[in-house]
Amino acid sequence: MQVAGGCGIDATGRVTTDRDYRIPLSVPLYATGVALIGSVLFAMEKRDVMTRRLCLSLLLFTAMTAPAPPVHAQATKPYTRADTLRGSLGPARAWWDVTFYDLHVRVAPADSSVIGYDAITYRALEPGDEMQIDLQAPLQIDSVVQAGRRLEVRRDGNAWFVTLAEPAAAGEMATLGVHYHGKPRIATNPPWDGGLILAQDSLGRPWIATANQALGASVWWPTKDTQADEPDDGQRIAITVPDSLVDVSNGRLRSVVNHDDGTTTYEWYVESPINNYDVAINAAHYAHFGGIYHGESGVLTLDFWPLDYHLDAAREQFRQVRPMLGCFEHWFGPYPWYRDGFKLVETPHLGMEHQSAIAYGNHYRQGYLGRDLSGTGLGLDWDFIIIHESAHEWWGNSLTTADLADMWVHESFANYAESLYTECMHGEAAGADYVVGTRAGIRNDRPIIPEYGVNAEGSGDMYPKGGNMLHMIRQLVDDDEAWRGILRGLNREFRHQVVTGSQVRRYIAERSELDLTSVFQQYLETTMVPTLEFGIEDGTLRYRWTDVVPGFDVPVEAMTGDRCVVLRPTTDWRSMPTDLGDPAQFDIDRDYYVRIRPEGGEPRPASASCGD
Ligand SMILES: [Zn+2]
Repeated sequence: MQVAGGCGIDATGRVTTDRDYRIPLSVPLYATGVALIGSVLFAMEKRDVMTRRLCLSLLLFTAMTAPAPPVHAQATKPYTRADTLRGSLGPARAWWDVTFYDLHVRVAPADSSVIGYDAITYRALEPGDEMQIDLQAPLQIDSVVQAGRRLEVRRDGNAWFVTLAEPAAAGEMATLGVHYHGKPRIATNPPWDGGLILAQDSLGRPWIATANQALGASVWWPTKDTQADEPDDGQRIAITVPDSLVDVSNGRLRSVVNHDDGTTTYEWYVESPINNYDVAINAAHYAHFGGIYHGESGVLTLDFWPLDYHLDAAREQFRQVRPMLGCFEHWFGPYPWYRDGFKLVETPHLGMEHQSAIAYGNHYRQGYLGRDLSGTGLGLDWDFIIIHESAHEWWGNSLTTADLADMWVHESFANYAESLYTECMHGEAAGADYVVGTRAGIRNDRPIIPEYGVNAEGSGDMYPKGGNMLHMIRQLVDDDEAWRGILRGLNREFRHQVVTGSQVRRYIAERSELDLTSVFQQYLETTMVPTLEFGIEDGTLRYRWTDVVPGFDVPVEAMTGDRCVVLRPTTDWRSMPTDLGDPAQFDIDRDYYVRIRPEGGEPRPASASCGD
């Protein structure tokens, strides 16, 4: 494995928080009306360069030796050892790198059981003799076999520690087979509260699916359950189901084998690295139709798998895929998975960005289950699940963050992609209307970035607030082609890689030649909305930033009467001559997610339209 740049963790934090809340996955939970319970926490951690080809051992060493920063947490429930095993690159994870998963699972919907094995091929980055394999209770590992020898296994909650027969030498490649069985956790509210989904279609026929982002793929198959390590060479997914059903998993279908016992095995093959939470079972009475898209990287196959009785509805609704691909390739660069194709697969849950097999459950309606999250009406011109989940093929699947705490990279860009799609359809002003409209969903309940290393998720604000942060950075870049170059550059630079949020921040700052340190800190690490305090007296306008992190000095376009000017406020008072007499005539362009407050008055949102 190659190391790209220096690896390291500058700081780690021990932050405690109430873990009762569950927040969104690939689709915004804020839109479901489920209340978020959370407490403010403030964890600052910076991670340096780490690619999919991880410098695992160095990260581990740094994590263990870095000083603990101040803790700003209000809740008291500590994270557990299990959280750390799940969310960190512990010693039994750090020395090896997954190169291939060969997964075989037989699903019996009659008794909700699974049985199968995963052959895990890995490369030793350094010598090691104990491996952590994750498989969540109540599933049971029956045996782990390597080169014909059964290995010793020790269980610690959902982590299973396997002792190799012989210590691995650095650089060595090997495979071990993990055999398992049991009844996986059944999803209670997928995709947010996920697991195995055993549903029925409207004709009462079985409909099997999986959805397990954040919860973890180990809820149904044995894996190294971290976003930080993807199988470099891809994955086989061979799913056996009752032969009345068709399974559609990720990648391409290689074979269909009927068995004498009334079951059929569908062998799917993914050639590219894949997040383990994207690996999916979808088994139902599907119909199929396909097509070809001529895109930036050539010929892309499109395959659509609606329920058989939804074929006509799907043929109509899925016409949105081509303009979506055109818009996103324009803004983000080539679709990342030409080798594995593009698919939409109808699911009993709302949706999920399952790589090269997007889960679709929006009932062939426009908007988000028929609703517009922006409140502008613009969101009803397209199907939220097609647009949002497909955006994750670039943001989340190709460019993947190493730690769930950096999920903002996935969701902020996916939210922002919705506004770019609106822009592709209706022009730039409409795109701005959309993203500004989604501010209604911002809660500022707690920071978008929670603690690292414990598989924690930040606030659901990672969707609308993150999208608005990106929209605001576009204003600061002030050059649409340069901005598009940055978005495409991120996808080119980090194509098919695991990255940290810090890498993404740094890339945008370097390419834009802007110091965005305080902008990212403000919006990702605090719940404060920057507020421009101002006063008008004797022909002088004075103003300063309040409710901001130190060093916040973002320039804004301000409306003073009938004209717009650029202000460069800092946290110290500045002033300029003005003709204004009425504070109500002072405003800031709405493209900036900030507030204004007359001295001694109440804050109000920025709402001016200064134009381009
Ligand atoms: Zn999403």
